[in-house]
Amino acid sequence: EAAALSRIGLAGLAVMGQNLALNIAEKGFPISVYNRTASKVDETVGRAASEGGLPISGHHSPADFVLSIQRPRSIIILVKAGAPVDQTINTLSQFMEPGDAIIDGGNEWYENTERRIRDAAACGLLYLGMGVSGGEDGARHGPSLMPGGSFQAYENIEKIVTRVAAQVDDGPCVTYVGEGGSGNFVKMVHNGIEYGDMQLISEAYDVLKNIGGLSNSELAEIFADWNLGELESFLIEITADIFKVKDEHCEGDLVDKILDKTGMKGTGKWTVQQAAELSIAAPTIAASLDCRYLSGLKEERVFAARILEEAGIKGDVNVITSRSIDKKRLIDDVRQALYASKICSYAQGMNLLRTKSEEKAWNLNLGELARIWKGGCIIRARFLDRIKKAYERNRVLANLIVDPEFAREMVQRQAAWRRVVGLAIEAGISTPGMCASLAYFDTYRRARLPANLVQAQRDLFGAHTYERIDLPGSFHTEWKKLA
Ligand code: NAP
Repeated sequence: EAAALSRIGLAGLAVMGQNLALNIAEKGFPISVYNRTASKVDETVGRAASEGGLPISGHHSPADFVLSIQRPRSIIILVKAGAPVDQTINTLSQFMEPGDAIIDGGNEWYENTERRIRDAAACGLLYLGMGVSGGEDGARHGPSLMPGGSFQAYENIEKIVTRVAAQVDDGPCVTYVGEGGSGNFVKMVHNGIEYGDMQLISEAYDVLKNIGGLSNSELAEIFADWNLGELESFLIEITADIFKVKDEHCEGDLVDKILDKTGMKGTGKWTVQQAAELSIAAPTIAASLDCRYLSGLKEERVFAARILEEAGIKGDVNVITSRSIDKKRLIDDVRQALYASKICSYAQGMNLLRTKSEEKAWNLNLGELARIWKGGCIIRARFLDRIKKAYERNRVLANLIVDPEFAREMVQRQAAWRRVVGLAIEAGISTPGMCASLAYFDTYRRARLPANLVQAQRDLFGAHTYERIDLPGSFHTEWKKLA
């Protein structure tokens, strides 16, 4: 008699795949696993055994793997995005049958998913692009899942994903996002927002350390304290922990020994490219991306520091001599500046999602997306519940800044926000994320901008015409004759 079939399959057993497979098995769903390199299959089966005999069956042959799963089959793929996904689909799909579903859990470019949905449909296969967030720990104990594509494919795994996802007060952190590549797109914007959050936190650190003179142990305490209030979030929590870690190799704290050069894998860049494509201002996210690029120029920065010091700059941080710094007040100001900057960054990400949703007719529910980000993922935070509620109050909210509650909070925090940015500018400490957020706020909230002058210039040199505030129609002026 044949062995009992598995409920689901998973191919690609690196960090994410192994942990998600263990999570699925632990929730009571027998799972088959496969990986191009067989040793990872054995490693996963070994972990399943040592973690209490979880129901995982390992397969070295792709045919055995596919045939070990009950029909209609659901197979999650967690390999490197791009060509490896196509190669894995080719390897597996030849053994799959109409009605079976492929679920790509990688950080895939959404258009690749849309192409694969069409190719899969031609063979009668269903396809989902499912963003998975939460890193290793999320995959193992409860990620945030963003599935988009075939609704039937989603229904086939709904029971599994709702058990496997992180659980928060208002349900599991998974929802059917929408059609096409919407799940991957939403995950991409999640990552863009994550870039913004990390940049803003690093700026808060820079200001507190270099203007406030705070030590790592003081910073650990402050971030831990902030994590008890409105800033409560995974990234604030891990930041507090990072400041506590001593260097294993020599004296001092580990954070001070880390090279100031940021890595990246591309989802932040895609977010900024998409924002530009759709004419959506996303300056905080763009500033975070630019900062990663500039951080990469370590040798050039070391050189520039020397040349500019020779040219007369005193150290890399100007000492503020005009007034003394009230440490307690600075800490409280930075907390408020961080919060207000964060709201602007989320407003940009949400508006990008809304605009893409309109273009693609995805009908994204922004409040529901904020809800599934409340747990499991890297940007999980207390204030996502407030974002959820803002979109529940008004599904077509133009911008988070004009939700009455957020509007009030922004106004309450703006004095502190301006003090922090002003102090940083005076000291020569760059805070591109906080500045970009503040400029976004100040631009968006003003009924009249100096864009009238830009229009006049465009009309003068290019006869591009302009509209008037007092008369309908478009106008052109022979500016030079009148000047
Ligand atoms: P990864 O390092 O991105 O990829 C390694 C896996 O891809 C291995 O299983 C490898 O198989 C397989 N692979 C690579 N090229 C292949 C090919 N040509 N054919 C077949 N298999 C191939 O793994 P990961 O970090 O676990 O991430 C998996 C996906 O999840 C990625 O899209 C990633 O962006 C996304 N993601 C990662 C995280 C994270 O924290 N790491 C978080 C969220 C999302 P071999 O063992 O045979 O080399």
